[in-house]
Amino acid sequence: MDQQFFHDDIRLFLERRVDWERYFRLRRPGPVNVEEELDTFRSILESLGQICEDIESDSRDHWHEEVRLEDGVVRVPAHIASGYAKLKEAGLVCIMLEPQYGGYGLPTLLNIAYLEMLSRANTSLMTILGLQAGAANDIQKYGSDELKQQYLPRFTSGEVQGCMDLTEPGAGSDLGGISTRVTEQDGRFFVDGGKIFITNGGAEIHLVLARDAATFDQSKGTTNGLNLMLCPRTLPDGTKNGVSVSRVETKMGLHGSPTCAVEFDHAEAYLLGERGNGFRAMLDLMNAARIGVSAQGLGIAEGAYRQARTYAGERIQFGAPIIEQPLVKSMLTLMALDIQASRALLYHTATLIDQTEALEAYLASDRDEADFDRTELQAEVERNHQLVRFFTPLCKYYATEVASHVTRSAIQVHGGIGYMSESVVGHYHADSIITTIYEGTSEIQASFALREMAKGALFTALDQLRTDLETLSTDFPEPVGQLKNAINVLSETLPSLMEDPSYALLNAKRVSDMVISVIVGGELLLQCRSEPRRIELAAAYINRTTLELEMHAKRIKSGDASRLERYDKILSV
Ligand SMILES: Cc1cc2nc3c(=O)[nH]c(=O)nc-3n(C[C@H](O)[C@H](O)[C@H](O)COP(=O)(O)OP(=O)(O)OC[C@H]3O[C@@H](n4cnc5c(N)ncnc54)[C@H](O)[C@@H]3O)c2cc1C
Repeated sequence: MDQQFFHDDIRLFLERRVDWERYFRLRRPGPVNVEEELDTFRSILESLGQICEDIESDSRDHWHEEVRLEDGVVRVPAHIASGYAKLKEAGLVCIMLEPQYGGYGLPTLLNIAYLEMLSRANTSLMTILGLQAGAANDIQKYGSDELKQQYLPRFTSGEVQGCMDLTEPGAGSDLGGISTRVTEQDGRFFVDGGKIFITNGGAEIHLVLARDAATFDQSKGTTNGLNLMLCPRTLPDGTKNGVSVSRVETKMGLHGSPTCAVEFDHAEAYLLGERGNGFRAMLDLMNAARIGVSAQGLGIAEGAYRQARTYAGERIQFGAPIIEQPLVKSMLTLMALDIQASRALLYHTATLIDQTEALEAYLASDRDEADFDRTELQAEVERNHQLVRFFTPLCKYYATEVASHVTRSAIQVHGGIGYMSESVVGHYHADSIITTIYEGTSEIQASFALREMAKGALFTALDQLRTDLETLSTDFPEPVGQLKNAINVLSETLPSLMEDPSYALLNAKRVSDMVISVIVGGELLLQCRSEPRRIELAAAYINRTTLELEMHAKRIKSGDASRLERYDKILSV
């Protein structure tokens, strides 16, 4: 049966919401055939959709199988190995890498669609694949030519895999606590220390964040003085490096995804990017990974929703399918709306990332097209960077929280059978929970978004939204009016909140929800221009969230930081 992994909502974005003509003209010189490029994109996602169907049916009954550690070697379950082999055989391991390293140089939007589809088919396998593009892109951006030549083609071919080693027992959300040490000896670098919770920690290539021994004491407790190191398990001369896996965790979900404790014992490593500035280089990887985990959450939510929707149409109680019960229908509708909203924000952000990369490619070239003004393009790049820094934590926060509650609702729709250990929606739920924790917890994402707002990103986003709404007001006067009103409420509420940092942090999730509701509302209305029948969906979303936004604003205005003192009293009871 066609499971529609490459479904209509992905097609909508791919075919209607991106100015591909401009993207390709900026990215490279010469004539552009947009239809031909789009055909290639479609055919890649169609092939991937078929592979995802196979992967899903092969792995469905093996979800619970655990990763094992045997004689220091990490062994993934057979369904993970065979799924990876299928993607490798299809040449779909690192689709974004440049063609000179064997990739296709595909845009982020395609990669996000890929990760959404794969996560729905097999969430554990997605964690491994998602890391490959991120790690390889970081090497492409920060590695020496020698490192790029040596490792990138092997990433694309699937011969080697990578992982990202940040977390330590004393350094989770706060990476200033990193104490893994990197020492320079005669122009060579060596890493000593231990990392925990490393996804795919048995991989050949480790991208390790470690503190430079030369400035260890001065930089301790901060993210300064960190180096990003490429640390292979096998050195170029074929000898074994000092990297080993000491433990593989068993977890609540994601059973097929290896989560490892990794030890570095005077392991030789190579510097990526500037010495002492490794946190900056790792941020690129982390931001890409945050977008990837958002896609993971979205895929999980989509999978659980589809299961629940089908079940509700088939399960008969009181002489009728349960979907006819208003409460069940409303649960499903809310799930559908939240998924649409989550995709709108994520795909919109992916498109911004792509447009920015295309602009940068043009600005780095010596081309001089009549209709591209370099000063204007440069201003657009800066505006886009500000928006991407703002929207990335919002995507991660929102898509993963949506995954967590959509999967929980999917269990509710299934009733008792949803709670059985073989329940597919139960598996999705167990897998969803970690998405709100790794790559920066929801609380950390909300506080990052707040920080970007304080730097002015909110005004940039709202300016853009106001411009978009002007173009929509004739066709959709009522929802546009509601959104304009919501923007006014937001603009009245936030400036004074920002003056009180503790109270602002206390409200970081609430504020994030408010901002997401207007940005997503605008994007859903823009989608109606090419697909007018989506107006029911957009109007329902805007109705619900503008009411919630007003309630949030009232709650914020009704208090101040003294609320925290009340919490102290409650917690000490
Ligand atoms: C399955 C799995 C896979 C993982 N994969 C990787 C990997 O590949 N590489 C890697 O390096 N790490 C990985 N991690 C680690 C993961 O990124 C961390 O667990 C995560 O960043 C949170 O850190 P922590 O567990 O130390 O929690 P803590 O930082 O101790 O946080 C505990 C709680 O306090 C809250 N909190 C902390 N600080 C703040 C703050 N400033 N404001 C508000 N709230 C705050 C958090 O939101 C959370 O609710 C993985 C973890 C798991 C479980």
